[in-house]
Amino acid sequence: MKLLALRCPICAQPLKPQNPDVVVLGCANCGTAVSLNESGLDTISLQFATPAVEKFDSWLPLWVFNGRVTITNRQTQGRNKEAQQHSEQLWGYPRRLYVPSWDLPTETACQLGGDLVQRQPTFQRTDPPDKFSLVEAVVTPEDALKLLEFVVLSVEAARKDWLKELHFTIEAAKPQLWAIPAMQAGSGWQLQPAFK
Ligand SMILES: [Zn+2]
Repeated sequence: MKLLALRCPICAQPLKPQNPDVVVLGCANCGTAVSLNESGLDTISLQFATPAVEKFDSWLPLWVFNGRVTITNRQTQGRNKEAQQHSEQLWGYPRRLYVPSWDLPTETACQLGGDLVQRQPTFQRTDPPDKFSLVEAVVTPEDALKLLEFVVLSVEAARKDWLKELHFTIEAAKPQLWAIPAMQAGSGWQLQPAFK
């Protein structure tokens, strides 16, 4: 393992990641979003979503892709025209695809991603705050793309027609990292962005 002196590339403040799998964290001193990878430290562009509430606890990192999911084969046990139509409507267009990037169980991440994909929220950009508390991102863009497959699968498996087999492809551009305002709710988070 290569040991890196973890310092913010902008202000040189020491960075102290909490999670060993961290891939993006915020500098507590200057507010820069810093990405960590094999080649070292770099700054990464981070979009801040306008909050819907005045007070919240943290910003959560979320990957947002523009992409297209093409279902090539969808076999079900039960016949349900409505479920089939909803599937065709959802994936019949290019979509925004979302993958939570903070540390949470894969199943929960896929459920949340699937929920967002079906709602298609557009976040309104706001200016970066001077100081902010960003929950560390632990999912790389490459892993987020892989997780998208499970997001699609979880959406389709939840339909009421007993999914038996699903074949699909995902074409997606490079994702953008968004910081979403959130409140702590029990052991999890409740997202609090303003929606258009
Ligand atoms: Zn800094």
